[in-house]
Amino acid sequence: METTDLEAFLSRAKALCVLTGSGISQESGIPTFRGNDGLWKQYRAEVLATPGAFARDPKLVWEWYAWRREIIHRAQPNAAHQALVELEAEFSARPGGRFALLTQNVDGLHERAGTGNLIRLHGDIWRLRCTGCGAERQDYSVPLDRLPPHCSFCFSLLRPAVVWFGESLPQEEWARAADVSASADLFLVIGTSALVQPAASLPLLAKQNGGLLIEINPAPTPLSGLADLAIRGKAAEVLGGLSSRIPDA
Ligand code: NAD
Ligand code: ZN
Repeated sequence: METTDLEAFLSRAKALCVLTGSGISQESGIPTFRGNDGLWKQYRAEVLATPGAFARDPKLVWEWYAWRREIIHRAQPNAAHQALVELEAEFSARPGGRFALLTQNVDGLHERAGTGNLIRLHGDIWRLRCTGCGAERQDYSVPLDRLPPHCSFCFSLLRPAVVWFGESLPQEEWARAADVSASADLFLVIGTSALVQPAASLPLLAKQNGGLLIEINPAPTPLSGLADLAIRGKAAEVLGGLSSRIPDA
C-alpha cells in the first residue's frame, strides 16, 4: 500500500494532539455551522448560538437545538472518528507515546466511536444546564417534550450545556488543552474553519513550541499557510483505514 506524507509524519511522532471541528462530522450527515447546509429555516447558526438569542427567544433557540439533536441522534461515527480511535491505540502502544483529542464538537460522536483521552472544549449537546440553580443533567430524549424545557428543582429555564459565541470555555478543559497542545510534536487539525477563538489558537501554540502542523480540510483556512502539510480533502476519505498504512518508525 502507498505511504503518503501524512503517514510518514505520523510514523515519526511521539506526542500526537488532534483538534477537530464540525467538518469531521459532515460525512456523518451533521451540518457544519458555516456551510450552506448549516442553515435552519432562514437563520444562520452563528446568530442562534449566542446568549443574546437565547435571552430574546429561548423557544426559537431550543427548536433549533431540537432539530440538531434529531439529526445527531440518527448519525453514526464515520471512518475519520474511527481512525482517531485507532491512532490513539497506536500512540498509546509506542514507547513514550501520547495521544489527546481536543474537539469543538458537541455531537458526542468521538465518545461513541470510542476515543478515550478526549477534551470537550465546547460542551455537550446531550447535557442540559439550569439557568437558575446551575443543576446539570444528561438528557438523550428525542424529541424533547415541551419547549423550552424548565428545571424540575427551581422551575427556571434550562439551556443546552454548550459554549455559545461570546462565552468562555470551561477552565479546566482549556488548561488541559493548552498543556497538551504545547507539548505535542505533531498537531493534526481536522475540519475546522479555525475562525472560532480561542480554540483556533491551539495549533499556533503547538507550532510555537516546535510541533509540526498538519491540516485536513477541503477548503483553505487561516491556518493553511502555517501548516507543514495541508491536505485538501474530506476527513473520512483522507483518514479512513489510516492506521494500517502507517509504517514502523
Ligand atoms: P465551521 O462550520 O466554522 O467550519 C467547518 C469546517 O469544516 C470548514 O472549514 C469546512 O471547510 C470544513 N469541512 C466541511 N466538510 C468537511 C469534511 N467532510 N472533512 C473535513 N473538513 C470539512 O465549524 P467549526 O470550525 O467547528 O466551528 C464552529 C463551531 O460550531 C464550533 O464551536 C462547534 O462547537 C460548533 N458545531 C459543532 C457541530 C457538531 O458538534 N457536529 C456542528 C456544527 C457546529
Ligand atoms: Zn434549577
